[in-house]
Amino acid sequence: MLTLSQVNKRYPTGDRALTDIELTLPRGQVMALIGPSGAGKSTLIRCVNRLVEPTSGSIRLEETELTRLSGNALRRARRAMAMIFQEYALVDRLTVMENVLSGRLGYVGFWRSFLRRYPADDIAEAFRLLERVGLPHAMDKRADALSGGQRQRVGIARALIQRPRLLLVDEPTASLDPKTSRQIMRLIRELCAERKLAAIINIHDVALAQQFADRIVGLRAGEIVFDGKPGELDADT
Ligand code: ADP
Ligand code: ADP
Repeated sequence: MLTLSQVNKRYPTGDRALTDIELTLPRGQVMALIGPSGAGKSTLIRCVNRLVEPTSGSIRLEETELTRLSGNALRRARRAMAMIFQEYALVDRLTVMENVLSGRLGYVGFWRSFLRRYPADDIAEAFRLLERVGLPHAMDKRADALSGGQRQRVGIARALIQRPRLLLVDEPTASLDPKTSRQIMRLIRELCAERKLAAIINIHDVALAQQFADRIVGLRAGEIVFDGKPGELDADT
């Protein structure tokens, strides 16, 4: 469903973050992107949703060439790709429920959140998602009253209410303890299976990647140095 072909990224500073990336992600596949800090993992994810402009190459999501989009067409394409962030990126002063709804409403929701008028269907869906991620009791709490693991669950619900086909997940467990990290990875894994979502998950923890991904792609200095099943990855790769 997602194909990267000959993708290069060179930052204005001269850093070559990605070199000739070739990658095809089938529908429903959960791919872990591993590699040392500075390998280009964040850059790759950000090229897909165009937070970063690739210097050259092609990135196709189903029939759409993403690198040529702008304006409304880009906004539409981005709706199919939901981000989950390392630091959750919740709005602290809003409630858990409002944070989830913000994923559905986007720009329009910015105004609705002042007027406190949310469509009933969206509220019902947000509540179902909060039940699914285990936080229905917290819906009226402010986001900053939650623990890190709970905040990430809200981040996951906010991504899913967007009804994406692809999840782009940047170091989802980097701020979490090992047990919470496993719970979060298991939850993402299960939700991808339930909803037939493809995912690219940047993760520096190789053991977590092996436990929860269908496929592992290793990046080093902007190049793919491994692409295979979790069991095929040697400890020293
Ligand atoms: P990773 O996510 O694997 O840690 P990054 O994609 O963040 O790797 O970085 C890849 C390379 O690109 C690094 O050399 C980094 O310094 C550089 N880089 C990342 N973002 C920028 C930026 N905004 N401007 C300049 N160089 C950047
Ligand atoms: P990560 O762990 O995801 O690589 P970093 O801490 O390296 O994140 O980078 C944090 C932010 O700084 C990112 O937005 C990244 O694009 C930017 N950045 C990283 N390296 C550079 C760089 N060499 N010059 C400018 N910005 C950078």
